[in-house]
Amino acid sequence: MRFSRLYAPTIKEVPSDSDLISYELLVRGGFIRKVAAGVYTYLPLGMRVLSKITSIVREEMENAGCLELLMPIMQPSDIWKDSGRWDDYGPEMMKIIDRHKREFTLGPTHEEMITVTVKNELVSYKDLPINLYQINTKYRDEIRPRFGLLRGREFIMKDAYSFHTDESSLDDTYKIMYGAYEKILERMRLEYMAVEADTGAIGGSNSHEFVVLADNGESDLRYCTECKYSATDEKAEYKAVYEYPFESEKTLEEIRTPDVKTIKDVSEFLGVCEDKIVKSLLLKGRDGFKMVLIRGDFEINISKIKSYFKDQTIDLALPEDVFENFRVPTGFIGPVGLNRADVEIIADISIKNLKNFVVGALKTDYHFKNANYDRDFRINAFADIKLVEEGDACPVCGNPLSKKRGIEMGQVFKLGTKYSEKLGAFYTNEQGKQMPFVMGCYGWGVSRSMAGIVEQCHDENGIVWPLNVAPYHVVITLINTKDEVQNSTAESLYGYLTGKGIEVILDDRTVSPGFKFKDADLIGFPIRITVGKTVKDGRIEMKFRKSGESCSVNIENGFESCLDKITEEMNRL
Ligand code: ATP
Ligand code: MG
Repeated sequence: MRFSRLYAPTIKEVPSDSDLISYELLVRGGFIRKVAAGVYTYLPLGMRVLSKITSIVREEMENAGCLELLMPIMQPSDIWKDSGRWDDYGPEMMKIIDRHKREFTLGPTHEEMITVTVKNELVSYKDLPINLYQINTKYRDEIRPRFGLLRGREFIMKDAYSFHTDESSLDDTYKIMYGAYEKILERMRLEYMAVEADTGAIGGSNSHEFVVLADNGESDLRYCTECKYSATDEKAEYKAVYEYPFESEKTLEEIRTPDVKTIKDVSEFLGVCEDKIVKSLLLKGRDGFKMVLIRGDFEINISKIKSYFKDQTIDLALPEDVFENFRVPTGFIGPVGLNRADVEIIADISIKNLKNFVVGALKTDYHFKNANYDRDFRINAFADIKLVEEGDACPVCGNPLSKKRGIEMGQVFKLGTKYSEKLGAFYTNEQGKQMPFVMGCYGWGVSRSMAGIVEQCHDENGIVWPLNVAPYHVVITLINTKDEVQNSTAESLYGYLTGKGIEVILDDRTVSPGFKFKDADLIGFPIRITVGKTVKDGRIEMKFRKSGESCSVNIENGFESCLDKITEEMNRL
């Protein structure tokens, strides 16, 4: 490809809506353009990278014995109603209505669709196991579409679904898919962690996420440096030990606390440590309001709360909603005097032995001191709802946990029979009995991978593509297009390398060398060959994007040594 014919509109300036370096570089390098929040066009360079990622993912799926199919994006609502997710999935689901007033979703995922696809086709245990995948566009009306391709509303996913007679067959496929995901990440040359994960709206028993390490990533990991325990913040557990010195219960005191808004404010105003304040939060879900209580110095883990209530729709209630229903601002909410039997109160295990703490008084501008549960208010149940933090004890070995951030590229789930039972998908076993399929599902963010790679592979000058996903391997920078010798050398080198199967861009534009070098670095071609003045002396210059090393190569007797150098570098990358 000649640069003069390429459609790669590079930009010098940082885009005004840039919120992450990978987004900035993909826009500036002419890979993508934003159309609307979370919706993008892939320009030719972006499309090349995307195709390479897709090929790697496809090859590893085929190696794992997975068969490709393609399901519709537009899915009728009834299958989602049958699974119960039409309501449960929440506002991320894009819903549309056709001219006949029939409801559809633009699929955020395809568990229902695949289950009804195989339902009447795989009828015998002899048909199993089977693993099917597609590479397709997904729609999720993300509350915060941001960070470019990392969190789109329209994005490309590889999703696979496996069907089994039993858990042990599922375990085998789960392991194979786990291995396939490791292979994909290795082929992309990325640093990653495979961690235990929450199953969220997808459901099921076990799950792992494959997270590419990056400081700006949205995945917050907890891991142990002693044993191999690692999990997402949503899933992470810890060894909870709470011992408090003995105290007898003191008299409940109502105190005016005007204008205090946060736990820190309350702590400073009352001169009480945050660990002696109990935060009361109102949540709203399918069955109305719930109250959760947790120590002031801890954060709640909403995923643990969702799975405790078995309600994926549950979330913090909006302040207006709280005020309308309880006549008090969120900062003064508390359990004492809450005369609402319909509001279940769940407390974190950290406050089980806590005495004489501070709580909101359920009255504007007031808090209670010396509150004690049972005496002053009810708790319906205790549960671990705490967000595990760095330094909390590893649930396996007790060593203090560490923290790292990253980008979730893929996730694998053991679904069990959740979908097959709800959607009536059965096979006949050896004894002639009808049994629900045991299922697994395996998602991979294909478009997200592109941003994830850039997030990990860039420097101050631009993108540093790993070879396997680079849009082209080599750029030949022709310094002076008017110079006969330079021109003909660049042309023959271009022809020679292309003939050897190397993907080459010939930068034949009539712009300054500096401009060409900047573009080459920004776009991130792994190898740059400069054809300039030195051709007179039978030499060309090579520069390697990743190491920054350069060398001069003699071409008096042909381009073989140049090809050798390229091959050497390609093997290293
Ligand atoms: P997240 O926690 O980041 O919202 P998820 O757990 O909801 O993702 P899955 O349902 O596991 O996502 O989807 C499989 C894969 O699809 C993810 O691992 C991720 O790589 C990709 N993906 C999910 N949501 C998006 C999105 N909004 N934009 C781009 N890729 C996405
Ligand atoms: Mg996920």
